[in-house]
Formats: sequence, structure tokens, C-alpha cells
Amino acid sequence: MSLEFNQYLQQQLDEIKAAGTFKEESVICSPQSAAISFKDGRKVINFCANNYLGLSNHPAVVAGAKKALDSHGFGLSSVRFICGTQDIHKELERRISEFFGTEDTILYAACFDANGGVFAPLLDENDAIISDALNHASIIDGIRLCKAERYRYDHADMNDLEKQLKAAQNKRHKLIVTDGVFSMDGDIAKMGEIVALAEKYNAMIMSDECHSAGFIGQTGRGSAEYHGVHGKVNIITGTLGKALGGGLGGFTTGSKEVVAMLRQHSRPYLFSNSLSPAIIGASLAVFDLIENDTSLRDKLMDNAAYFKERIIAAGFDIKPTESAIMALMLYDAPLSQKFAKRMMEEGIYVIGFNFPVVPKGQARIRIQISAAHEKAHLDKAIKAFTKVGKELGVI
Ligand SMILES: *Cc1c(COP(=O)(O)O)cnc(C)c1O
Repeated sequence: MSLEFNQYLQQQLDEIKAAGTFKEESVICSPQSAAISFKDGRKVINFCANNYLGLSNHPAVVAGAKKALDSHGFGLSSVRFICGTQDIHKELERRISEFFGTEDTILYAACFDANGGVFAPLLDENDAIISDALNHASIIDGIRLCKAERYRYDHADMNDLEKQLKAAQNKRHKLIVTDGVFSMDGDIAKMGEIVALAEKYNAMIMSDECHSAGFIGQTGRGSAEYHGVHGKVNIITGTLGKALGGGLGGFTTGSKEVVAMLRQHSRPYLFSNSLSPAIIGASLAVFDLIENDTSLRDKLMDNAAYFKERIIAAGFDIKPTESAIMALMLYDAPLSQKFAKRMMEEGIYVIGFNFPVVPKGQARIRIQISAAHEKAHLDKAIKAFTKVGKELGVI
């Protein structure tokens, strides 16, 4: 029976390979950084990490982790409500609340869990969730676990959002849900218009700031700050696994009542382990670095503007973006794979994305800029993109 089952799986895996969508993993043997090395000795400049602020291997962050290891041990062997809450967990929750200007924060093992556990405890069949069509998989899964009626609006289409809000008007509570920055396109949610519609139709807003917390907006508070409506989003979820250190962990921040209810009923919080003290110590160091100092965020946004100007001037088709994500559109799946492979040979690590990660016919290279990049890294990448682009007839 198990032999038969494994053969059945192998057949499906072969089909994935035949379709050209099988995902391979490259084995890195250096810390995460602007320049990384692979097991086979290759060294490349990395343009595909979520290491936006360059904190993944920052000395102060590593020191924060070590300090907490010494003072609070390695693990807690417990969920939060039994014996997994230390003083530093409460301190980090307070620091995240202060950063976003919210009342309280609840930590999770990952933002996948924060999004998976945010809807069901707060909303039921009397309520409505109105969700952007391109929202992250974890939001989609979280909504599936909740009994609220679901409405979907076309990506970033404010006319369609208004239409869905009208359709949901008779529901008790209405929650608009959007990514703050959309990971595949790099566009920022139209939070100003979303806030205006939420006020008009008496709805609440939740945003997932995984690709924006720490750097989008003048002081890095995210998409609401970028659009001048900081403080108007009711519930924010985010990750500690991208710009904010890149280790592990997620959070939901908002009113004290929302967070109190999540602590009672959110299943990924109740039934999954507490974050390791080392992660908490590192995260506290992250907030020490970014709370009142925008220099990393400013460097990142400078780098992004520098790169964007030059990649567009080189003749590439880049999706409109004001974030640190640039989608270089190739439209053709095999071409995107070939392009990424050639870039790797030129010492630039980027990934080609195609269906089902992006819609059919929308194949692209996603470029992620970091504060860890120096101008020389960016120049080298532009040169390589131009060379490969000409070689493959893209520009
Ligand atoms: C990465 C990501 C997540 C998941 O975050 P983890 O902490 O890695 O689980 C959730 N939402 C969005 C928009 C993301 O990009």
C-alpha cells in the first residue's frame, strides 16, 4: 500500500517537472546578505531575499539573539498561555504596538499563522470579509477557516471594492482585507482610497504589512503611512521573517479588544509553541535600530529609486512600483527560467516566476532591493541585466 502510494506521488511529481514548475532549492552556505555563496563554491549578489533592511545578519541583531539566549535560554517548550510567556515576549509586543501606534500586539510563530488565526475568532456568518484578489495565500486560507461571507474584489480596483461593499451592506461587521505591498507586483495598496470607502460604508480594514513594515512610508510604518492615513487601519498583520530581522515570527496588532479576543480563541496562538527567546532578543534589537532612525529605510529607498531608474532606462518593462520589489516582465515562462539561469551565470541571483505563482502569460523576474546592497552591487546587476536582456532579445 505504501509503495503504491509513493508511486502515485512520484507520478505527480514527474508531472510537475514535465510542466516546468518544479521548485528546486539552492543550498547557501553563507549567512543571508547582499553577497552569498553556494555549496558548490559559486558566489553571487543576492536580489531575491526579503532582507529589505539588511538586518538578517546585522551585528546588533545577532548580538540581541545571543544576549537573550544567555539570559532567557533556548526554548520554552510551551504555548504562550501555559508557561511560554516571558517578560521579553511582553516587551516585544509592547514595542510593536508602539511602532505602529496601536493598543496591543499578539505574537505568532509566523505571519502565516497570524493570518490563519485572525478571522475566525473575530467574525462569523453575520459578517463579511471583502478581500483583494491578489492577497497572500495565508489570508486566503485564514478566510476559508472563518464563517463570514466572502466577497472578492479585482486587484486594486476601487470601483469593484465599492461594488462589493454595497453587496455586503446588510452584514453586521464588514472587514476589507489587503496586502500592504503585493509581493509579486510590488504595488502598494491604495490605502487612502480604501480608508475613504471604509468610512463611507462603515467597514473596518485589515492590512498585511509583510513586504512593507519597517520601510514603506516616511518612517517605515507601512502602506497607511505611505498614503497619509496612518492610524486608520484597524488590524495590521506582519512578519519578523522579512525586513524585521528575517528570522521567524509573526504578529497581529490593533485594538486591545481585538488582541484580547485573539489570545482567547486564535488557534495557531493557542495550539503552537511560543517563539524562542533568541528570536525575541533579536527582534528587540531590530526595533532599537529602526524605531527612531530611518537611515536603513532611507538607504533602501535610495537604492530602489537608483535601480528602478536604471533598469527602466535600459529598456526593460517594469511593473509600476514604489516599493522595493520590481517585477521585470517577460510574459513567457521558459524565457523567464532561461533569463534567471543566465543571470546566475553572471553572478546575479534572481528568480523567474511563472504560473501558478503569477497568472498565465505573466511570467517575470522578481527583483528585490536591500539596504545591504551597495551602489557597486546595483551597477553590476544593471550591467548583467542589460547583457542578458540583449542576448535573449528582450531589449
Ligand atoms: C511572507 C508573507 C506571509 C507569511 O509570513 P511568514 O512569517 O513567513 O509566515 C504572509 N503574508 C504576506 C503578504 C507575505 O508576503
